[in-house]
Amino acid sequence: MSWQERFDRDIMHALAMPLAELERGQGCRVRDAEGRWYLDFLAGIAVNSLGHAHPVFVEAVSTQAARLAHVSNYFATAPQLELAERLLRLAGAGSGRVLFGNSGTEANEAAFKLARLNGGEARPRILALENAFHGRTMGALALTGKPAMRTPFEPMPGGVEHIPATIEALEAAIDERVAALFVEPVQGEAGVVDLPAGYLARARELTEQHGALLIVDEIQTGAGRTGEWFGFQHAGIRPDAITVAKGMGGGFPIGALVAFGDAAELFTAGQHGTTYGGNPLATAVSNAVLGEIERAGLVEHAARTGIRLREIVAGLDSPLVTGTSGLGLLVGVGLAEPRAVELMHAALAEGLIVNAANPSTIRLAPPLIAGDAELEEFADRFGRALHRLASTRTDTV
Ligand SMILES: *Cc1c(COP(=O)(O)O)cnc(C)c1O
Repeated sequence: MSWQERFDRDIMHALAMPLAELERGQGCRVRDAEGRWYLDFLAGIAVNSLGHAHPVFVEAVSTQAARLAHVSNYFATAPQLELAERLLRLAGAGSGRVLFGNSGTEANEAAFKLARLNGGEARPRILALENAFHGRTMGALALTGKPAMRTPFEPMPGGVEHIPATIEALEAAIDERVAALFVEPVQGEAGVVDLPAGYLARARELTEQHGALLIVDEIQTGAGRTGEWFGFQHAGIRPDAITVAKGMGGGFPIGALVAFGDAAELFTAGQHGTTYGGNPLATAVSNAVLGEIERAGLVEHAARTGIRLREIVAGLDSPLVTGTSGLGLLVGVGLAEPRAVELMHAALAEGLIVNAANPSTIRLAPPLIAGDAELEEFADRFGRALHRLASTRTDTV
């Protein structure tokens, strides 16, 4: 029986049929079950910061697994304390506190509860942006600005209002009854959509004026991806809280809510937690991943490589490509026609993994370790994929 047949038989139909069955990876490349290698410019959706099977990752997982994997929150461990300290230092936003979980959506659930603790019934409103993506569990889904994802699961937790991603819309919406504003520095899932210039700075002013928390979802943009440790750092602001996941674990599931200043004091003992959150295995691996990003200068490298990647895309000279969006190594390639899915398949046929983030945008999120060889290979394969498309009709896949 083929893997497709087994997938179709045994895996819940909540998931779409995958593109291939992958078997192993090395650096920026993965191999499928038939032995074909692909250049991976998606990195598990901005997760595999160090690529695949990086020795630092492998060593951290095996050493910590052999020492102490899990203990519950009845006990503290050194990796947990070290990671909290590290995240606060890298955020560079002054004093704060960290609450660990296992995924992005869980980090946003914690952030949602944090928002509720800001003002309680006096602040029933929570603002989030249209087209925002914050996760799939009920609280995070309520924050997600894509009605089609929410509707089948209504009623949602109450109080969330979605506003357009413009400074004017925020000015019009915010008042003393708003507990928090949730915002992504770049809307990854929406199709690598940039915020309007000055948005985060103005959002900081307005939320501060009205006593609302500014909560920045750094789940896709964090851990060096954008050429800063966190996306908000491009704007030179200090948010009240950020949520982090994806790249911080390099492939090991982990997430965190990091709150700063007064917002870090809102939770009291017993109000939130999860069995696995902050366990020594996950936190040791995250320490190793973030430590290697720091040691190898991969944040600056992401900034530089992001510029090169944009130049390469601009140089492809294809009538289908209209331009790029995003920050650092989170790159959206805009298309003149809604052919992103076709292009993704064409790239796959050329041995290149990219993602159709929306019908007219290809998302590139290579491992932060991607170097000149990978960029050249990308240029070659993506160019050939575009060429394939140019010679086929819109309605063929
Ligand atoms: C991926 C993502 C999430 C959800 O994270 P999961 O680990 O998939 O639950 C939330 N917010 C943003 C911005 C994301 O990119």
